[in-house]
Amino acid sequence: MVKSPKNCEDKIATIIAKKSLWIKEAKERMHTKKGVVHTLDNDTTIYFLGEGYPVDFEKSEKNSLRFIMQKGFRYSYKNDLDKAKFLKILDSFYLQKAQELLPKKIKEHAESMGLHPTKISFKKTKSQWGSCSKANALSINTGVMKLPWHLIEYIIIHELVHIKHKNHQKPFWALVAQYVPNVQELRREMKAYA
Ligand SMILES: [Zn+2]
Repeated sequence: MVKSPKNCEDKIATIIAKKSLWIKEAKERMHTKKGVVHTLDNDTTIYFLGEGYPVDFEKSEKNSLRFIMQKGFRYSYKNDLDKAKFLKILDSFYLQKAQELLPKKIKEHAESMGLHPTKISFKKTKSQWGSCSKANALSINTGVMKLPWHLIEYIIIHELVHIKHKNHQKPFWALVAQYVPNVQELRREMKAYA
């Protein structure tokens, strides 16, 4: 059988349709990641400790971001509503909250696990929630403040266990499991965030 060019065109059309559906779905997956700010409007949501909050925008004398407990965020901006400026101020909110809330938590876990970091620092990083250096200095991504507490605690425990085991081999996970029994579940849950 010789396929007609028409048939061939249909096939190509089907392939293209399938591909664009795949791209559309991939885009949607990105958009549904919690903690990503796409546009500044009524739909803007800021994640803090696992909760998504609405943002009120108001023109003002200077740029500032305030968190009003139970209600949400108010972003005051001078001149134009600029996404880069907004994200910068949001990052400093997460940094401030990390510095305020995490050292105590880390200390508590370090004490109960008997694993003490030499240094603790907080900074925004792109691809990791946390890390532990050869010298046992802990670094926590300030973006963890988007996550609910049980995920933040998992990240803290994970990095503290690296003080003892520097890799992700069996003994590492066995020790993590002593403190966090449902690791697989938490790792899945974390994938919803970016
Ligand atoms: Zn690790």
